[in-house]
Formats: sequence, C-alpha cells, structure tokens
Amino acid sequence: MLRHIILVGLITSAFATKLSYKNYKVYRIIPGSERDLKLLNKLEEKGFSYWRSPSRTMQSVDLMVAPEKFSYFEKFMGDHRMKFQLIVKDVQQLIDQENPPREKRSLYNNGTLNLNQYHTLDEMYKWFHDLEKRYPNKVEILVGGKSYDGLEIKGVHINHGADKPAIFLEGGIHAHEWISPATIICLTKWILKTTDYKIRQIIESYNWYMFPVVNPDGYVYTFEVDRFWRKNRSKNNSTECVGTDLNRNWNYHWDEAEMESQDPCSDSYKGSEPFSEIETSTLSQFIKSISEKIEFYIPFHSYGHYLLFPQSSTEKLQKTYKRYVS
Ligand SMILES: [Zn+2]
Repeated sequence: MLRHIILVGLITSAFATKLSYKNYKVYRIIPGSERDLKLLNKLEEKGFSYWRSPSRTMQSVDLMVAPEKFSYFEKFMGDHRMKFQLIVKDVQQLIDQENPPREKRSLYNNGTLNLNQYHTLDEMYKWFHDLEKRYPNKVEILVGGKSYDGLEIKGVHINHGADKPAIFLEGGIHAHEWISPATIICLTKWILKTTDYKIRQIIESYNWYMFPVVNPDGYVYTFEVDRFWRKNRSKNNSTECVGTDLNRNWNYHWDEAEMESQDPCSDSYKGSEPFSEIETSTLSQFIKSISEKIEFYIPFHSYGHYLLFPQSSTEKLQKTYKRYVS
C-alpha cells in the first residue's frame, strides 16, 4: 500500500493531510487461464492495488490504477492479450459521494441511530455508551484489547442470561472495509430492537459479542488520511513501511497460506511472528477468556458475496461443512 501512497497526490485539509485518489480508475479483468492469474499477481508487485484480488480463473478481478500508471497498465494488458473493462472513472469522486460531509452528518436522526452513513470510531463508541444507559440490564461495554496507538478495542455484550451460548461478531480488521463495522452496528441495533416474536426467540437464545472495529488505528486512519488503508499502524523494524495485516497475524497455521506476505510493504504483511501485533495478541486473550461460551465466531469483510468457512490453511472439508451449507 505504501508504494501507491507515494504515488498519490496530497491535499491539505484543516484537520489532516488527506490522500487524494483523483483520476484513479478501477478496471475489471477476467483471467481466462492460470497464466493470466500469474501475470495479474505480478501487477501487485509493481505497485498496483487490487479491490478484488486474482484468485481463480473466470472470476473477475478489480484493479485500481493510478493516473501515472495508465500507460504501463495498457501496455502490460496489450502485451499479454488480456481484455479489461473500465468500472470506475474517478475513485475520488466515489469517496466524496460515499459519506456526507462531516458538518452535515449526525449520529442520530429523529432520536434513532442514523444508518445512512458511515460513522467514525468516536461516534460508534458514543453510541455504545448510550446503549448501555438505555439497556442497563442487557448491554455492557467491554474492552477486548488495545491498539498500537493506544486506542481501545471496544465492543458491546448483549446479555440474555449467563447460561446461554454466545456468538462473537468481529468487524473492521481490514480498516478500509467500512461496510464491515457498519454491518455490525446495524445488526446490534436490530438485535436490540426487533419485535418479531420468532426472531426474538432465536436472538434471545444467545448472548452476543459485537466488536465492530478490531483495528481502531487503521479505521481512524481511513477517515483522516487514506481511505484505502488496510493494515494496522504499527512500525516495522528495518523498513519505513507501516502496518501489519492483522487478519494474517493470528497464531493459527501462521505462515502457511499463500495469501500471506513476508514483505512489510505489502498490504497482506503477516507480521514478524504470530501475535506480533498488540491488537491480535490482546484480543486473542480476551476471546480465550470467553471461549467456552462461544458457539459461533463470524468476521465480516468486503467486498464480494461469499460465505467462507474455516479453514483457509487446508482444502479439506470441515466436519461442520454440511451443516453450514444446509
Ligand atoms: Zn477483509
């Protein structure tokens, strides 16, 4: 990611220096062969950034291209006889449209949480405090861990009785995937408010751990500096490149999946060792402390319409596979 940060222009705002993606374009490519896949993977090494990475043949790939890289991209695609289709003309225009300007935004709309916009970390945490006040016997704020810059990884526990099993929802481990925290915020509201009798029966047969932003430093950074930042914000020894992909840093078959990177400048950098990052190490301790109660653990990511079952370290079907697909 840092490679393309160097390439983007800087504009100054009153609060922070924000990266501009003016005239960045996004192209859709359909790899027709294993050869195409290999070639497309090479583009990431050349400083291109994928919105949807190459994974298998005939599955579309979305690639963001900086203005100064257009000619290289077009020549590369022409040389290798691959077709491409423009799907976003100006990425900055999309960024400007996706969230209303700050002064027009508000946390609440007619007393209810505004779900028509993406909220900042402070706004979400403020809402948690309001929930705790409104549902004193049911909602409790929990601190699940800490971040490199000293922020708390906060979540809410929705308690329907000590004897009930629990469901843990994790969001925002990849900072730029804003729809992930937003989905957990939306679900939290729905779990507390829905009045449908049958749904309430299901909801109340579980306790819920809702953690919308487990990478708070990265999330704040996407609001203040770079909309497409993915990793946390920890410093790496021996390089200027910042951040580790927290989703590649868990101490479970670490360093075994092909999608991990050893390069600290890569968006998928796995860290120097499992749990090298304070976010994953502290959150894992918290999860361990309640692990006996947890029946489901569901992380939310974007984008793509997929339901991915564990484990990515093996292609063998899990025992629970049939139950999940039925
Ligand atoms: Zn993700």
